[in-house]
Amino acid sequence: MSDCLFCKIAQKEIPSEIIYEDELIVAFKDINPVAPVHILLIPKKHLISVNNIMEEDEAVIGRIFSVAKELAHQFGIAESGYRVVTNTGTDGGQVIGHLHFHILGGKALRSELG
Ligand code: 5GP
Ligand code: ZN
Repeated sequence: MSDCLFCKIAQKEIPSEIIYEDELIVAFKDINPVAPVHILLIPKKHLISVNNIMEEDEAVIGRIFSVAKELAHQFGIAESGYRVVTNTGTDGGQVIGHLHFHILGGKALRSELG
C-alpha cells in the first residue's frame, strides 16, 4: 500500500536496520526499542492486522514464527526467553496498520497475563 510506513520499509523506500529478508517477510530493528532485543517481523504483503489474515496467508504466518525462532537464537535470547507479540486494533495497542510481530527479549518482561 502506497502510504503505509511498513510497506515503505519492506520496499526500502524508508531506511531501517533490516536483519532478515526473504520472499515473504522482512525483519528489522524497532526504532524505539522497549527491550535490549526488539525486532519487528512483517509480511511483505500488506495485511492490516490479525483480523485480515486469510487461509492463503498461512505460509507467511508460519514463516514469521520459524524466522522468529532463528532470530532468537541469533540474538542470544532463545535460552533466556522472549516474547513474540502482535497487537491488534485500538484496544490491542496497535499503532501501525500493517501486521507486525514484535520479538522482545534480553530482560525479564512484565506481563499483563501474570
Ligand atoms: P504497534 O504499537 O503498532 O504494535 O508497534 C509499532 C512499532 O513500530 C513500535 O514499537 C514503534 O517503535 C515501531 N516503529 C514505528 N515507526 C517506525 C519506523 O519508522 N521504523 C522502525 N524501525 N520502527 C518503527
Ligand atoms: Zn503496509
